Amino acid sequence: MRVRFAPSPTGHLHIGGARTALFNWLLARRLGGTFVLRIEDTDQARSTREYEVEILKALRWLGLDWDEGPEVGGPFGPYRQMERLDHYDPFIERMLAEGMAYRCTCTAERVEQGRQALAAAGEKPMYDRTCREAGHGPDCGEHVVRIKAPLHGVTTFQDHVRGEVVTQNAELDDFVIRRSSGLPPYNFVVVIDDIEMGIDLIVRGEDHVNNTPKQVLIYQALGLKVPQFAHAPLILGPDGSRLSKRHGATSVHAYQEEGYLAEALVNYLVRLGWSHGDQEIFSLLDLVGAFDLEGITKAGGRWDVDKLRWLNQVWMKRIEPEDLARRARPFLVAAGAAPEALDDRLVPAVLTVRERAWTLVELAQAARFYFVEDEAVGFDAAAVDKHLKPAVAPLLDGLLAVLGGVEDWSIPGLEAAVNAWVEAQGIKLGKVAQPVRVSLTGQGTGPGLFEMLAAIGKDTALRRIAAGRDRAAAAG
Ligand code: GLU
Repeated sequence: MRVRFAPSPTGHLHIGGARTALFNWLLARRLGGTFVLRIEDTDQARSTREYEVEILKALRWLGLDWDEGPEVGGPFGPYRQMERLDHYDPFIERMLAEGMAYRCTCTAERVEQGRQALAAAGEKPMYDRTCREAGHGPDCGEHVVRIKAPLHGVTTFQDHVRGEVVTQNAELDDFVIRRSSGLPPYNFVVVIDDIEMGIDLIVRGEDHVNNTPKQVLIYQALGLKVPQFAHAPLILGPDGSRLSKRHGATSVHAYQEEGYLAEALVNYLVRLGWSHGDQEIFSLLDLVGAFDLEGITKAGGRWDVDKLRWLNQVWMKRIEPEDLARRARPFLVAAGAAPEALDDRLVPAVLTVRERAWTLVELAQAARFYFVEDEAVGFDAAAVDKHLKPAVAPLLDGLLAVLGGVEDWSIPGLEAAVNAWVEAQGIKLGKVAQPVRVSLTGQGTGPGLFEMLAAIGKDTALRRIAAGRDRAAAAG
C-alpha cells in the first residue's frame, strides 16, 4: 500500500492538510505501507521554499515522518514537481499520438467567446471544442494541449467515503493538459506523479472531489489502472461554513505557537472526520492500531476550540512532567523568565499550575512568577488591598520566623512546620495562606500553599514574604 500527501507550499500547513497527512500516515503505518511526501510547487507565483520548510517542520512536529520525499529521498524521486518537469511531456505526447488529446490554438478571448455563447444557449459554459477535430500538428504555433474527453456516457469512480461517484461526461470539459508555456496544470501532473510513484490509494480533502473525474479520464486515456480514492470531509467552522481564517487560526504553526501539544492537535484532528465509538483520547500509537478508512465520516466536523483546549489539558497531564517542563520552557522564556532561572525548580513549578492551564501559554503565564525577578511579578491591586493589610504584618513576621527555621524544604516538611505554628497561634491556615500567595505571586489565586512554597525555593519565598510584610505594614 503506497499513499501520499501532496501539499502545495503556498502557505503554512493548514489544519485540514495536517489531517489529510495524518490519515495517510496512519494508513501507511497501520498496513505496513509507504507514506510518500510530494511537494506540489508548480504554482510558481505562490510557492516558496520557506513554506516548504515550514510544512516539513510542522509534519515532523506532529510526529508524522515520511518514507519517501524531500530530505529523505527515495526510489521514485525527485519529490518536488518543479524538479520533475521532464516527466510529463512523454505522457502528453503519448496521448497526442493516440488521439486522446489534441492541440488547440484558440486564444483566451476565443475560448471565452465560445463559453459565453454556450452559456447564452443555456448550456454548461466550457471550451466549445473548436480545435477538437482540427488535427493541428506540432508546428501549429502557440497552442495548448487539451484532453479529448468522451462526449457521452459517464465517468465513475469508487470512493471509500462517498461510495460510487458518477459524473456525466457531457459535464466534463476538454480541459487543458499542457499550457502554452509548456507547464501542465495540477490535474495532469498529479496523475502522472501518482502513476510514477506507484500510489494505490489517494486520501485527500473533499475539495478535490470535482477534480477526480478529470483525473480518472487521464488514467483511462493512458490505459492505466485507476487508484482507489477516499475524500475526507472538509473541516467546518463553528457556524458550519468551511473553516477559514475568519474563524481563527487555521495553521498548525499557529496552534503550536498558542501552546497546544502535538498530541492534543493530532487527537483532535483525527476525530474531526473519523469516528470510532465513544473513545475520545487517542495517542498516535493508539491510532495506528485503530484507524480505518471505513470510519471516515461523510459529514465534516465543526471546529470546537473548547474541545481542543480540553484535550490539550488532558495531554498536558498525560505526558511525563519532565517532558511537559521541557515543552513549557520556551513559553516561560517568552513570558519573561530568565533562561538560567529555569533550573530544577521547573518540574515542580509546572506541576503546581497544570490543573489551571489549558495551553502552554497559559501554563507559562501561571508559572512565570516562579522564575521572574521580584520586580517583574506584577501585583493585582485588588488582591493587595484585600490581603496585605497592616494587621497581617505581625502574622507574616511570625511565619517568616518559622519558615526561616525549616530545614526540610519539601511539601511534607513545610506542611508539618507551618501547621504546628498555625495551631499554636490558634489561627486558621487561610489567614496566612492568602497573604503569602499574594506576596509570592502578586495574585489572589494560585497554586496550593505548600506546593507553591516548595517549588519556589526557600530564598525567594523568604524574600518575597518579607517584601509582602513591608507592603502590609505600609498599607492603610
Ligand atoms: N496539492 C494539492 C493541495 O495542496 C493536493 C492534491 C492532491 O492531494 O491530489 O490541495
